[in-house]
Amino acid sequence: MSDLWRLTAHEAHEKLRAKEISSVELTQSVLDRVAEVEPKVHAYITTTPELALQQAREADQKYASGTATPLTGVPVAVKDLIVTGGTRTTAGSKILENFVPPYDSHVYQNLRRAGAVMVGKANMDEFAMGSSTEHSAFGPTHNPWNTALVPGGSSGGSAAAVAAGECLIALGSDTGGSIRQPASLCGAVGLDPTYGRVSRFGIIAFGSSLDQVGPIGRDVEDVATMLQCIAGHDERDSTSNPEPMPDLRHYLGRDIRGMKVGVPREYFISGMEPGVKARIDEALKTLESLGCEVDTSLSLPSTEHALAVYYIIAPSEASANLARYDGVKYGFSDRSGPTMWDNMEHTRAEGFGNEVKRRIMLGTYALSAGYYDAFYLKAQKVRTVINDEFNAAFAKYDVIVTPTSPTVAFPIGAKVDDPYAMYLNDVYTLPASVAGLPSISVPCGFSEGLPVGLQIIGKFFDEGRILQVASAYEAASGQRNLLAGL
Ligand code: GLN
Repeated sequence: MSDLWRLTAHEAHEKLRAKEISSVELTQSVLDRVAEVEPKVHAYITTTPELALQQAREADQKYASGTATPLTGVPVAVKDLIVTGGTRTTAGSKILENFVPPYDSHVYQNLRRAGAVMVGKANMDEFAMGSSTEHSAFGPTHNPWNTALVPGGSSGGSAAAVAAGECLIALGSDTGGSIRQPASLCGAVGLDPTYGRVSRFGIIAFGSSLDQVGPIGRDVEDVATMLQCIAGHDERDSTSNPEPMPDLRHYLGRDIRGMKVGVPREYFISGMEPGVKARIDEALKTLESLGCEVDTSLSLPSTEHALAVYYIIAPSEASANLARYDGVKYGFSDRSGPTMWDNMEHTRAEGFGNEVKRRIMLGTYALSAGYYDAFYLKAQKVRTVINDEFNAAFAKYDVIVTPTSPTVAFPIGAKVDDPYAMYLNDVYTLPASVAGLPSISVPCGFSEGLPVGLQIIGKFFDEGRILQVASAYEAASGQRNLLAGL
């Protein structure tokens, strides 16, 4: 079989377990697919074919000895801000172009322990700042459904790799929408876990009160499996929650009769494409037909402020996190100047792209004496109001359902010179991020031939519930394992 790359992770696991295929065969099929389509898609910054085949051989031994688990031998793409010992990790930035980490992140350690196979490091907007993957210092990723379009971002490489068959499942990271929005634009499933669910040890930091790592896959079951693998307490991350992750398989394939679904009216704004609205309306009907009580009278009045809150808090935290890139400790270094200060200035001026510089300036401004109270402190207060509104809603509803993105994928170049237009891509994903809530995007049909995503938001640590609704919806809609016809 030459098209093993079409399998989902759980389908592959079944065949591996039954010894119908080997991980080496599966991995070779994915590597061949990468060789074929990567010139058109550019989902990866670095591919690691030798390492992948080595890991595949180890995985085959695990199957032989009966010690395999669901991700053993499964080819995975890893977003390039996830530290992988011995494999270059760039965060999409020139400043880390040659950074080869000496250690593994928590999530990569867990993947390796499970026996997963790494195909490569996925392209991304520099330091995860962006919604289109055009802000990568290594060039943009192209949407596999139409290569003239963006895949979304910042985890656009991960989502495109999944949709193009260049891996079976991927890891992304989400600060304000970077897993869910590219998943939506590429027809994949993407889950942003509750803040604190997944350890950030070894994750290159952007906005520390927002960042979470999560899965992007071709169906809900794969996403649940990957989340199960990476979640759990880790004492190396002080924000990692000690709460154990329940067995997520328990939530899949169960009925959702009687479940209360809130649909906030503030999400149905002008700027939302009619084709997106039509798909969401149909999805709500499907949920009703599955026995859910869908209530469209929910109001979350502070929704419109989430964007302003996010674009003060995230850049503020980024301005502090990115201070470490000074040409002294890591990566790119310009040493041509007469003094250390000149060298730091030149290193940062050359090493960072424009969007990153914009964020550092915004953040430094918002945190400076005299403006701190007016911007940063005010944003934190509004953040609490947004949390309170969600909490009040969750006293009434099991889940909140919204579109993931107001538009389908847009042309490369259309928004890259207009930061505000770019920021507006995340209006629907930012509120849950600001509140730290878990949320998932699942495919819900097509508009103009391009995928549309449905977002399901849950209570804190209620990943099980959003997976349950996503899994029931997926079964009813048949929208799974969508591979772009490249
Ligand atoms: N697009 C948003 C930003 O540019 C969110 C990015 C993210 O979630 N990492 O900041």
